[in-house]
Amino acid sequence: MTEPTATPSQPQRVRTRFAPSPTGFIHLGNIRSALYPWAYARAQHGDFILRIEDTDLERSTQAAVDVILEGMAWLGLDHDEGPYYQMQRMARYREVLAGLVERGLAYPCCMAQQELDALRERQLAAKQKPRYDGAWRPEPGKTLPSAPPGVKPVLRFRNPQDGVVAWDDKVKGHIEISNAELDDLVIARPDGTPTYNFCVVVDDIDMRITHVIRGDDHVNNTPRQINIFRALGCPPPVYAHLPTVLNEQGEKMSKRNGAKPVTQYRDEGFLPDAMLNYLARLGWSHGDDEIFSRAQFLQWFDLDHLGRSAAQFDEAKLRWVNAQHLKSMTGAALAPLAVQHLARRGINADERLPAICELFKDRCETTVQLANWAQAFYADVHPLAEDIAKHVIATARPALAQLASLLESAPWDAPGIAAAIKATLAAHGLNMPQLAMPARVLVMGAPQTPSLDAVLALHRRETALARLRSIPA
Ligand code: GLU
Repeated sequence: MTEPTATPSQPQRVRTRFAPSPTGFIHLGNIRSALYPWAYARAQHGDFILRIEDTDLERSTQAAVDVILEGMAWLGLDHDEGPYYQMQRMARYREVLAGLVERGLAYPCCMAQQELDALRERQLAAKQKPRYDGAWRPEPGKTLPSAPPGVKPVLRFRNPQDGVVAWDDKVKGHIEISNAELDDLVIARPDGTPTYNFCVVVDDIDMRITHVIRGDDHVNNTPRQINIFRALGCPPPVYAHLPTVLNEQGEKMSKRNGAKPVTQYRDEGFLPDAMLNYLARLGWSHGDDEIFSRAQFLQWFDLDHLGRSAAQFDEAKLRWVNAQHLKSMTGAALAPLAVQHLARRGINADERLPAICELFKDRCETTVQLANWAQAFYADVHPLAEDIAKHVIATARPALAQLASLLESAPWDAPGIAAAIKATLAAHGLNMPQLAMPARVLVMGAPQTPSLDAVLALHRRETALARLRSIPA
């Protein structure tokens, strides 16, 4: 970490981070806390750092790390540094802890758990906020309790007792907390391992983070963290605490109440740019713009238009946003996405796929739906008996047979096929839907499709004829 320090003439380079704990599969609510710092770093031509906060050994898993990395790669949230893992930085935390103890800014505390519990009960009974009473805090002239045998001390941070901690939060505005409200936080456990609030500050200092953009579940930690920054002689970063994302039931989004891992949206046929667009709007706005590209988002994103109230996830809206992005893509760009879904079903596509995607994209919300349509060109279709009964009726059957024979020699393109359809309609006195609906049921397995001539032209002639003639008795 050798970047030169900022001078007044040289504005400080923006450095943001995403610092997930890999203790469950990352969902949309979490990944939004990655999107904004990523976007801010990109918009400001700064750096985005990924840091995995894996100190909760019991709950952290490699599978959860993998979903974070895969989800971010899928969404194109690329990082410039990292991933750093907190578990690999233990020596550094211990070094900083030792420095604080040496300077009298942290101290050992041997208060046993029963004593802490008893203190808490006394305070609650006296209707006071439970807090550590500073029994082991060294003061000039104070005699400290004698250490009970066998109790390993924790380290506590010597929080200032006077004054206030204040910051201008980019989302929540000015926040001020009196130091009298804050007790001396445990920063290292009896076994010497550092605690969350301490590690975060050491990391944010070492990684030279200028803007901390994170969920507002951390807003109560911020005054404590700012005090630790000060004790370490470093200015705190700018903070932006993002309001919670609620699920469709209005509860805080979490794995426990059914939130899907972000990678599942990829598997369900959502587009990364649509997802980015949708998530961006979940807590930030640019006028009334609902649909925008990645490039526009990065051009517009700032910290001044972050929403202050909780945003609610709405799957129908996400599907609509996805459909808008899907429509704006070319068939050629969609084909590789449809190929992946088809391959998972054991179906090989061919050179017709871009044209198929182009023809069907307007009626799809996801690339899975697009693959469902494309499948009819590469694998057998199974029309529903009720569609056959409803559409492939007696009056249509001779017309379907004639269409099949005319198509044996018609030029195999949309105009050639259209002429054969027209001649069949005239010969049988039928209107277009009377022939097109049963033909679609037989050829595509569905009565509603884009125009019949265009659909047939994308089939192989033999397949189309065989299906038109596959009328069940
Ligand atoms: N690891 C914390 C979390 O996943 C985030 C810490 C931070 O952003 O400061 O909630």
